[in-house]
Amino acid sequence: MTDNEHKKPRPPVVVVMGHVDHGKTTLLDYVRKANVAEREAGGITQAVGAYEIMHGEKRITFIDTPGHEAFIAMRSRGAAIADLAVLVVAGDEGVKPQTKEAIGILQKSETPFVVAITKVDKPSVNIEKIKSELAEAGVLLEGYGGQVSWHGVSAKTGEGVNDLLDLILLTAEVEELSYDPALPASGFVLEVRKDKRRGLEATVIVKNGTLRRGDMIATSSAAGKVKILEDFLGKTAAALEASAPARIIGFSTSGGSASGGKGVPLVGEEFRTGTEQFAQSGKAAAPRLARAGREMDSNRDNHVLRIMLKAGDAGSLEALAVVMQGVDAKEMTAEVVSEGVGDITDGDVKEAVATNAAIVGFKVKLERGAANLADAQHIRVVTSDIVYDLLKAVEEFVRSAGKPTILGALEVLAIFNKAKLNEQLVGGKVTEGIFRNKGLCEVVRVENGMDKVVAGGKIMNLRDKKADATQAEKGKEAGVLVDAPVEIMKGDRLVMREKR
Ligand code: GDP
Repeated sequence: MTDNEHKKPRPPVVVVMGHVDHGKTTLLDYVRKANVAEREAGGITQAVGAYEIMHGEKRITFIDTPGHEAFIAMRSRGAAIADLAVLVVAGDEGVKPQTKEAIGILQKSETPFVVAITKVDKPSVNIEKIKSELAEAGVLLEGYGGQVSWHGVSAKTGEGVNDLLDLILLTAEVEELSYDPALPASGFVLEVRKDKRRGLEATVIVKNGTLRRGDMIATSSAAGKVKILEDFLGKTAAALEASAPARIIGFSTSGGSASGGKGVPLVGEEFRTGTEQFAQSGKAAAPRLARAGREMDSNRDNHVLRIMLKAGDAGSLEALAVVMQGVDAKEMTAEVVSEGVGDITDGDVKEAVATNAAIVGFKVKLERGAANLADAQHIRVVTSDIVYDLLKAVEEFVRSAGKPTILGALEVLAIFNKAKLNEQLVGGKVTEGIFRNKGLCEVVRVENGMDKVVAGGKIMNLRDKKADATQAEKGKEAGVLVDAPVEIMKGDRLVMREKR
């Protein structure tokens, strides 16, 4: 059986982004009112922070929880909450700071998007001006030298809204979004609230598989059983398929063993469903999943990052093990070589040295002795109380696993002269190893919480105080003359690696 046998196309999940007051809410309201028959809900208006519309024969899901824009950034493993975005720019105002910020996020996360020039009913609208401002901000519209689709809309009169929906569907088609209805469901938590009568209600977006009433469900911090399943209108459903918003009641709030003593799912967390066995809960299933992953990966050893998991308690550990199965960065995967409860000790670091593993700690501390040893032995350790941070860090580890070791790294603290890209004079502190004169380096920048190599550069000169130097050790400050194709910024790291 091939992987694709069960694959079916799925509707796009869309977020709307843009500067404040440029009409995001009004547009989302208009689209919902024009396309969702509120009476279907039996007089209740939309129950959750997401809705589904039919446009022609096709469905589109819009996310409209407060702060929904933040969800676009959560695109760290092939999976993401939103598949595409609508960038809203008010026709009478043009590109503003938050528009630029949104563009930056869209570009960095490689999220496909269309542009809606809003408020076109206003007389002061100047489309040509908007186009050129967008071009300046790096977005080239169709008909203006680029590929980004756009349409003028008014959420007041409805003008252009149908065309915008057409554009969204066309853009989605190019993405070939698909899912496998035969799989257990997976997706993301959008909202969590407590209802006095019904208890904990979680709104989720299904991104793959089929979510059924009666399924066992788990996130990295909670677990339970789908006792009540409702669609976005609050109507009871037996099953919901990918891209559908769903409301779930059944996460256990008792803090039972199934949830590792916590029981509250967190907004943004990924969820998965499974059988009874899977959820009893994670206890046995999580380590088994981990081992299955290991066997599968053993024949592609070169592409595997070994990790040791440490967590604050058994429940968190199980959850962490399940979540780590989701790590996937191109051809590489993470393989869990050991799991344990408690703070990270120097014993753990020694084990990591022996097995050539990185250490991932969830809700644990890194003991001081262990930190020193890890530093000396170049063992990578990451700890956080937020599962997403760990996932991102591990994915970055995985991505860089095949790279040669770091010889030296310098954090850029000041920019002295950036007049010419091939003669950028910066100052910084050596944070790792020994930084040498006349070598090649990577310019590494934190983007969306992740390290990213933005360019390769060359060290033209190195100065310690005022004198030329051949090298600078960890802890020392140095001035560096760099030739790089990008403008180096404060906070960047210049990383020199072993030659292969
Ligand atoms: P948001 O902050 O991006 O969600 O913006 P809102 O949707 O709250 O809109 C800000 C203001 O612009 C409100 O007063 C809206 O009534 C107004 N507005 C939004 N869309 C349109 C439109 O298409 N035409 C006109 N004339 N006004 C609009």
